[in-house]
Amino acid sequence: LLADKLQDVFKDLRGHGKITETNITDAMRAVRMALLEADVEFNVAKGFIARVKEKALGEEVLRGVHPGQQIVKIFHDELTALLGGDNEPLNLEKPARIMMVGLNGAGKTTSSAKLAMWLKKQGKAPLLIACDLHRPAAIEQLATLARQVGVPCFTPPPGEKDVLKVGRLAADWAKEQPGNVQIYDTAGRQEIDEPLIQEIKALREFLQPQEVLLVADAATGQQAVSVATHFHQALNITGLVLTKLDGDARGGAALSMRQVTQRPIKFAGIGEKLDQFEPFFPDRLAGRILGMGDIIGLVEKAAAAIDEEDAKRMEEKMRTASFDLNDFLAQFKMLKKLGPLENILGMLPGMSNLKDFSVDEKQMKRVEAIVLSMTLAERSNPDVLNARRRQRIARGSGVSVTEVNDLLQRFGQMRKMMKGFGKMRQMMSRPGAAS
Ligand code: GDP
Ligand code: MG
Repeated sequence: LLADKLQDVFKDLRGHGKITETNITDAMRAVRMALLEADVEFNVAKGFIARVKEKALGEEVLRGVHPGQQIVKIFHDELTALLGGDNEPLNLEKPARIMMVGLNGAGKTTSSAKLAMWLKKQGKAPLLIACDLHRPAAIEQLATLARQVGVPCFTPPPGEKDVLKVGRLAADWAKEQPGNVQIYDTAGRQEIDEPLIQEIKALREFLQPQEVLLVADAATGQQAVSVATHFHQALNITGLVLTKLDGDARGGAALSMRQVTQRPIKFAGIGEKLDQFEPFFPDRLAGRILGMGDIIGLVEKAAAAIDEEDAKRMEEKMRTASFDLNDFLAQFKMLKKLGPLENILGMLPGMSNLKDFSVDEKQMKRVEAIVLSMTLAERSNPDVLNARRRQRIARGSGVSVTEVNDLLQRFGQMRKMMKGFGKMRQMMSRPGAAS
């Protein structure tokens, strides 16, 4: 049984040379599904996959991981880079005007107040300015939030419908205030509305803001591309705020929006409360979009824990079947560096569902003790292990002779299995056979 379990582990610890079309077929399919399920727009997903794959082909596979796992990690890293390429902070050059734009319900008003609170914590003196003249309750909503944050708020004269006039009044008001950042909350619509966009465009031209932030719901689906394109063409946005990341949405919209605007995502909304707002972390979203977070951890761990040279030597030995008990022990140590075996197996795709797949760590320790009780000569040539020697080893490691015999029998099987390594390796790299 232990042999079976080890065989599973070895299968994944072997490393498979280079990344090729065939040894990543399954992983590519999984990545494509993940992107589409996360609502990354179809063409964006397609383009991204093609580019990353091109880059990854021919790359050496890290020792200790499966090519499929490594490709997921490569996608994760590329996705992270893409989502955070220019991880710029806010541009707060004077007069430090920030305009919040976006569809209705995206979270503009809430994010304006959240941003004010965040800036206040950074030692700034933000001002909130209500410029949504379309929804009657919008002004009061912002004023209420401003009171909660404890910052001054500009409210337009009742009944005023001219947003440019309001912009002018607000800019004058701001000059009189002891503030150094101005946050303008603007109006939105359920869908893209040309007259409204033109109105906001006029306000943008008048204010000449340092930041124009497109506020977008993380759950924006396939329309993310058209929303971002429209707002960006009309307003030349400077960044994005991704809201409602506390919800179920995997947030693929961010990738689409980032792709079409080439603008950084600067903040993330992670709840309804005013302090549930933070600078955007690209790697977290990348993990969320791919939904394969644990594989990434595994690959990182493997890369850190396994010495390449060691692994290369090991593989060579396996191939030539000169693998002996010393190597067996080294292999054990390699596994141990990776952490508790059950954790490792839990990280592998599909494995986490195997409830009854528990690895007996205690048994592994006993195996290690047995091998450690052998002399170096015995370890390199187990054939010399006669009954007397086996008794001595059993005593030395505190196990029964039967256990020593069991181990040696299993080792013999394993060695036989490894002789067929070359053949198996070919088999494993056939599409669909890898998992
Ligand atoms: P606006 O129409 O763009 O101004 O959107 P609002 O700021 O009025 O927000 C619309 C709704 O989304 C409100 O109920 C907010 O509480 C909610 N909301 C905004 N940001 C977040 C967020 O990050 N997480 C959650 N859960 N809700 C949010
Ligand atoms: Mg609003």
